[in-house]
Amino acid sequence: MKLKWRGRLLFTLIIGLIILFFVQNPIGSSLLNIFNIGSSAPIPTELHPVVRERSNQLVQQAADKGIVIVITDDFRSAEDQDRLYEQGRTAAGSIVTHARGGESFHNFGLAIDFAIKTPSENVIWDMNYDGNQNGKSDWTEVVEIAKTLGFEWGGDWVQFKDYPHLQMNFGLTLADLQNGKRPADLSLTADTDEIK
Ligand SMILES: [Zn+2]
Repeated sequence: MKLKWRGRLLFTLIIGLIILFFVQNPIGSSLLNIFNIGSSAPIPTELHPVVRERSNQLVQQAADKGIVIVITDDFRSAEDQDRLYEQGRTAAGSIVTHARGGESFHNFGLAIDFAIKTPSENVIWDMNYDGNQNGKSDWTEVVEIAKTLGFEWGGDWVQFKDYPHLQMNFGLTLADLQNGKRPADLSLTADTDEIK
């Protein structure tokens, strides 16, 4: 009888310590983040800091090659996305997205769109333009740099090719993001240290 009581106490103590580990410990709480236990993370309202940093690096590294790029879009609220979705459908213009509000990485602050600016200050989406005249299209060069920085390119998509689009998924799918999962803080730090 006494042994059973002790066993129960020990069991409770261990469970308590495990809970304490997850709540108090940064590793534990980031594990909670990864598995998204207990909460639905809020929808971000701005570009993710790592994506912003990489965007700045992209602009800088393209400039080093004589290519001026402009980031034409980054974070988009679900409302902005819905408005964009109507373009080419119920509103004027051509279709630029197949994603409604909450269906794009832009809505989670994990995507940017770029374009190229010519010396005469024109913003262009010409994928053959070779402004720095090195025999390689500037667009291709920008995409190459973006990929080394960890971006996925919309031009590689099979179904709807989105050539100006770059996104970082941190190992998460759109469904993960919609279910409230967010990039874990620890993996971001590790990731940032990896690429300078
Ligand atoms: Zn985009």
